[in-house]
Amino acid sequence: MTTLFARIIRGELPSDMVYQDELVTAFRDINPAAPVHILIVPNKVIPTIDDLTDEDQLLAGRMMLVAKKLARMEGIAEDGYRLIINCKKHGGQEIYHLHMHLIGGRPLGPMILRW
Ligand code: 5GP
Repeated sequence: MTTLFARIIRGELPSDMVYQDELVTAFRDINPAAPVHILIVPNKVIPTIDDLTDEDQLLAGRMMLVAKKLARMEGIAEDGYRLIINCKKHGGQEIYHLHMHLIGGRPLGPMILRW
């Protein structure tokens, strides 16, 4: 299976890549919601967080630790930031290759719109 993000990770499509290791890749979102908006993506295709298995523990932890590291590198750790993983239709997921959004650089307001 391949995805848009898999093609970015393999370097077949251009991106503003900020981090890569043997498990995850991070690149800037093409349509940023804030001054810092980075996507942290597993190198292997996992469609949604609902598809994670116990074997993915190291990968899941790595995504969090890379987010923390990048937040410091981007200078947003002190004021704070938000990590978001959208899952499937109700979560508003557009790209079915698991990814974590790291968003910051301005006050982000309430987490979701109340209904
Ligand atoms: P989702 O809604 O699936 O959680 O988030 C998908 C994100 O991928 C969106 O924020 C969107 O702007 C971003 N995105 C979509 N296509 C591309 C692309 O080709 N390159 C990059 N860097 N980001 C993309």
